[in-house]
Amino acid sequence: MHKLHKIQESFETRFWKYVRKTEGCWLWTGFLSKCGRGQLRLGRASEGAMQSARASWIVHFGHIPDGMSVLHHCDNPSCVRPDHLYLGTQQDNMRDKHDRKRHHLLGRGHLIAGERNPNSTLTWGSVAEIRSRHSTGERAVALAKEFGVTKEQVYHVLHNRCWVEGLGRIAAPTAQVSQ
Ligand SMILES: [Zn+2]
Repeated sequence: MHKLHKIQESFETRFWKYVRKTEGCWLWTGFLSKCGRGQLRLGRASEGAMQSARASWIVHFGHIPDGMSVLHHCDNPSCVRPDHLYLGTQQDNMRDKHDRKRHHLLGRGHLIAGERNPNSTLTWGSVAEIRSRHSTGERAVALAKEFGVTKEQVYHVLHNRCWVEGLGRIAAPTAQVSQ
């Protein structure tokens, strides 16, 4: 595609290009940050990127008030389904993470969208399996294929970047861009 044409595509058109709807979550097929948050480039590289959940909120509902974050009911950072999203502060986000952590520690199972949505994200069970099988010599690329995730996601699991036992799923700090 011609470069100029690319830049002129509307924000909304570009957003929909990277959405794959499933019965549950709507998965972001574009760029993912190291912990699986979707990112939508705003135009030229120098213009930065926006979290895909924020982009989805803008496409469906419009403006995001200052200081508000777009958070996930479904705990799937790559999800952009509008009814899985809600607006909250970083404090709400921390409280929700804390609730989920407590939920996990109580042994009722961690709230992971992937368990309802096997194609989308990993579960604690698969994280444990990936780590143990990798330690016995299986290759990350093969594991990624089998678990339906990218090899980068497997590396993040192996290097404790996104999944840390006892702390839950750690969200990566993501650059926020002003709109
Ligand atoms: Zn979702």
